[in-house]
Amino acid sequence: MFKKILIANRGDIAVRVIRAAREMKIATVAVYSEADVDALHVQLADERVCIGPPDSKGSYLNAANILSAALITGCDAIHPGIGFLAEDASFAEKCAQIGLKYIGPPVKSIEMMGDKIQARMTMEKAGVPIVPGTNIALRDPAEAAKIAAKIGFPVMIKAAAGGGGRGIRVVREEADFPKTLKTAQMEAETSFGNPDVYIEKYIETFRHIEVQILADEHGNVVHLGERDCSLQTQRYQKMVEEAPAPNLPAPARKRICDAAVRAAKAAGYASAGTIEFIVAPDHTFYFMEMNTRLQIEHPITETVTGIDLVKWQIRVASGEKLAFSQRQIEWTGHAIEVRLTARDPLRDFAPSAGKIATVRLPGGLGVRIDTQIFSGYEVPPYYDSMLAKIIVWDTDRAGAIARMQRCLDEVEIVGVKTDLEYHKKIFASEAFQKGDLTTKFLATHVDAS
Ligand code: ADP
Ligand code: ADP
Ligand code: MG
Repeated sequence: MFKKILIANRGDIAVRVIRAAREMKIATVAVYSEADVDALHVQLADERVCIGPPDSKGSYLNAANILSAALITGCDAIHPGIGFLAEDASFAEKCAQIGLKYIGPPVKSIEMMGDKIQARMTMEKAGVPIVPGTNIALRDPAEAAKIAAKIGFPVMIKAAAGGGGRGIRVVREEADFPKTLKTAQMEAETSFGNPDVYIEKYIETFRHIEVQILADEHGNVVHLGERDCSLQTQRYQKMVEEAPAPNLPAPARKRICDAAVRAAKAAGYASAGTIEFIVAPDHTFYFMEMNTRLQIEHPITETVTGIDLVKWQIRVASGEKLAFSQRQIEWTGHAIEVRLTARDPLRDFAPSAGKIATVRLPGGLGVRIDTQIFSGYEVPPYYDSMLAKIIVWDTDRAGAIARMQRCLDEVEIVGVKTDLEYHKKIFASEAFQKGDLTTKFLATHVDAS
């Protein structure tokens, strides 16, 4: 087992990894930018190294500084967390080159899934259904327009290297296609350093259901069940997630989870990973993408399975075999997560930064809070706006909803704008309580009200 791990991240996820390592008696090294001197992950780690200026390009995305920090502190492994360098194959490769174990999947899997076009080809070969569309990068505009017309409007133009809900455009009318294609290519080039885009049929009504995968380096792959992440803003940012997915019949659930295991095997996967699916109202489903990292909403899966995903990432990276088979995994009760962020829903979810004068977070039976904030904490304007994840569990969905409502009522955050009231509206909605979820849910039931 590793002796010392560097966590190449910040915020609640850095805290999450430090906690797992501490319980495993592994020492931790935090890295931080000049804006994060007082951050919780910096306080909780055994050692800390400043890696650069507030702008993440100079710090949390600065591979050379992070790797140097790991070497001078004598680490034997690096956990990338979520976001930043977490899906950067070249970072994982550099870790290996200097003799540090990357706590994540093999470089090849990251590369394959980081290119969404290559991912589609791999899935098709593995017998995992993909959304009708192209499996090549579109270069010639006339040719692309022809293909789009053949697939049928509306279509989605997606950046091959896209992520985090960025690099995606919907085209409803044929006439708009050429211009949008050009913008999408330019945007892909500036945002991801790769102009390749491809087309998918735009599916109007569906649920976003994803499957948690855990695999070791000895060929064992299991799934830990699904999560419903349909509640997304109009910019594809997840707001609320739950496990299991409500109103999903057992046979459909089995088909989706089995496909996810096939997908992970086809990717040559090891570590924790997630396969995202589009699930239509009749429960036909398509591969959407694979995230070759931990997922923000991983705690709901941990809650219903009792399996600590971060500890298993660490164990698997150190060469251990999974200690359980698929048949030994059991799911109990229902878990829901709310992503509480410093954003203003009334101003199109504009991020809000500043000093948190007061914070009161909920607790009690069946409640887990993953957060980096505390009274007096200054939310920096440079990074993502997550303040806290509230995760609740109960024996059934109705109980979990009631518990979340109670939790949201207990929250008090003074000093920054938050989306707390917006979340309360979600849970009060009758459609949500019925489990009537699609990716249009928030636009239909909450934004308008
Ligand atoms: P999750 O499903 O775990 O919520 P998201 O796709 O929302 O994952 O992304 C998680 C985090 O990673 C966000 O902070 C997002 O901005 C960042 N992220 C994801 N993909 C990329 C990428 N290709 N480039 C830069 N940041 C990314
Ligand atoms: P990212 O890497 O940015 O997360 P995804 O491929 O997962 O990109 O797509 C982000 C979101 O866009 C999905 O969660 C889903 O809501 C929506 N989406 C993706 N593909 C389609 C599609 N073919 N039709 C309609 N919506 C889609
Ligand atoms: Mg996605």
